[in-house]
Amino acid sequence: MEIEIDSLFIFVGKAVVFGAIALLVLAVLGSLLIAYSFKTERFILPNFMLFSITVLEAIVKAMFRLVGVDDAIVDDVGITLKNKISMKKFRDTPTNKRLIFLPQCLRAADCPSKLSQEGMKCIDCGHCEVGSAMKSAESMGYKVFIVPGSSFIKRLVRKHKPGAILGVGCITEIKAGLEMCEKLNLFGVGLVLDKAGCVSTVLNWDNFYEFIESDGTS
Ligand code: SF4
Repeated sequence: MEIEIDSLFIFVGKAVVFGAIALLVLAVLGSLLIAYSFKTERFILPNFMLFSITVLEAIVKAMFRLVGVDDAIVDDVGITLKNKISMKKFRDTPTNKRLIFLPQCLRAADCPSKLSQEGMKCIDCGHCEVGSAMKSAESMGYKVFIVPGSSFIKRLVRKHKPGAILGVGCITEIKAGLEMCEKLNLFGVGLVLDKAGCVSTVLNWDNFYEFIESDGTS
């Protein structure tokens, strides 16, 4: 009996060691692919990379930090990959079923807009790019909101029942937004700010206009 218990412990011990080695090997491979994709913008084995980024995120990020590389690369590649996967579905969704969420920090510091139930009400005063970007998107059929936080997003999604969402924000907000879209079975794409912060943040507006180009019918 004692020998059987010893054998069981040995078996479990070996399984744990082999499992840990397998995870480490997968994380190393995932990290190499992520670094390569970030450098070349070529995405090899996208499903495996997504697995590394979501399931092995903590180990993969630790590896980047271990070799002195900014682990934000992992989030960057993860968002780009998810965007690539969702973009076709996003564009196949009629524009009147697409919502855009802009963060309030994108507004000019002297923005005269007032807060409403649906976020900040832009009056297109011309002090920042938000006004004309909203006009362009709305003329295509989009509903656009300038939101102060994620609670507004959840409420507006419940109210307007979109098929697809474009969110603009910092890396953390975009990651959370894409996860929310996955949970709600919505086609979500995210655009990360070039400069994040609390006020006067910066967005590459050319990228924004590229994202909202419509293939769907409103
Ligand atoms: S254009 Fe709109 S968002 Fe920008 S500062 Fe004027 S009112 Fe505010």
